[in-house]
Formats: sequence, C-alpha cells, structure tokens
Amino acid sequence: MGKKDRRKTSVVYVSERSKACPICFMGLTAQTYNELLQGDKKIYCLHCNRELILKKSKKQ
Ligand SMILES: [Zn+2]
Repeated sequence: MGKKDRRKTSVVYVSERSKACPICFMGLTAQTYNELLQGDKKIYCLHCNRELILKKSKKQ
C-alpha cells in the first residue's frame, strides 16, 4: 500500500505443502524453495513470471 506502482506485479502465494506456483502449478526446485524460505531476494515463477511469496501455514 501507499505509493502507486503502475507496473503490474502479480504476487502469488506458494503454500508450503504444494511448493508450486498456484497459477501455473510449476513446481519449485529445492533451491528456489530455499531461497523463498530465506526471503533475501524476490523469487519469480519461471513460467508465469509472477512474484512468489511463501505462505506460511502457521503464525508464531
Ligand atoms: Zn507460475
């Protein structure tokens, strides 16, 4: 929220169970999943180019 960004950046949530893009169902590689877990950099689906965010099943 806040500033508007004209670029369309679709963000999709990857569930820990599926470890796959919810749009195109492309499975993530172990390395990509690890990078997603670390959250150091943005991960994009290689197939549909959406930004992937890990959806955590539990809040702590
Ligand atoms: Zn995808």
